[in-house]
Amino acid sequence: MQRVQRFTLCLLTIPLSGKCFETFTHTTCRNIPAIPFIQTLKPIFSVKNSYPRPTCNVSLRTQRNYSSTSTARAGWFLGMREEKQDLPDIVKAGDPVLHEPAREVSPEEIESEGIQKIIDDMVKVMRKAPGVGLAAPQIGIPLKRNYSSTSTARAGWFLGMREEKQDLPDIVKAGDPVLHEPAREVSPEEIESEGIQKIIDDMVKVMRKAPGVGLAAPQIGIPLKIIVMEDTKEYISYSTKEESKAQDRHPFDLLVILNPKLKKKGNKTALFFEGCLSVDGYRAVVERYLDVEVTGFGRDGQPIKLVASGWQARILQHECDHLDGTLYVDKMVSRTFRTAENVDLPLAVGCPKLGVH
Ligand SMILES: [Zn+2]
Repeated sequence: MQRVQRFTLCLLTIPLSGKCFETFTHTTCRNIPAIPFIQTLKPIFSVKNSYPRPTCNVSLRTQRNYSSTSTARAGWFLGMREEKQDLPDIVKAGDPVLHEPAREVSPEEIESEGIQKIIDDMVKVMRKAPGVGLAAPQIGIPLKRNYSSTSTARAGWFLGMREEKQDLPDIVKAGDPVLHEPAREVSPEEIESEGIQKIIDDMVKVMRKAPGVGLAAPQIGIPLKIIVMEDTKEYISYSTKEESKAQDRHPFDLLVILNPKLKKKGNKTALFFEGCLSVDGYRAVVERYLDVEVTGFGRDGQPIKLVASGWQARILQHECDHLDGTLYVDKMVSRTFRTAENVDLPLAVGCPKLGVH
């Protein structure tokens, strides 16, 4: 289980969805307990869904040799992804199928192809987890009287009519070499290739699904200089007005920047807590320039130049750091690192104050 906290100073982990917060008020925003977030959509990989081989020969070499993990990811990027077993997800608490009694399997059914397939899948899912036991409802198989809509969908799966799921890459977590090595530039000829366009589409989907306000290609295991960013009224509404004001945070439309180059505009800096989808569940104070200018290319290959300030400038710096192999923990103010739940606890004596300096 993963926890996403409703928390306002976090940069990149935004609360799960508006729905989860309908009943919340904004008065004690930073003290609201973490909201359990169950990740139900694990990517199911199959060869037919892998990335098309880029039309121009994309080489994924950076300065250093890839570790085996990175090589595997590079293979994934190039469409050489190994075929993975198309196994059902483990159903999580809250799904009606887990809270209703299952029905017995009739003697005639036992040797049927369907039941045998379920048993095979259960064994594989249990071993893959790994776990020491599994019940059929845990992979969504109820075989029960009235099916809820969810259960019906799952029954459809059982009957071989399984709906197709979005095959999105996982977010790579700290420790994976791809997050700690510089990414390489995308060449102008590559930008409009099918491969690069697909990566950008996936990055946007992964960022929105997380949800987060920014994502760099290495975070989905792709060592290329590509970032996507977006901040919305809805995300900002999870912060108090005072916090958004202090952070100088405003909504902005989706930004896709290839080969971004950052320049500071002035020496003013701001200290705020940040989080990262690749260091899930933690926060730390990071000092960032208040005003920056970024140049690079859009997904159409056209040059981009943008002057950003406040929170948008912070996101830009955070994402561009990813492309250099730097995580926020590599430049955080020491002794400010903490779990998301503890973000409101006082800073250690001697730590600089939050805000603009
Ligand atoms: Zn990050």
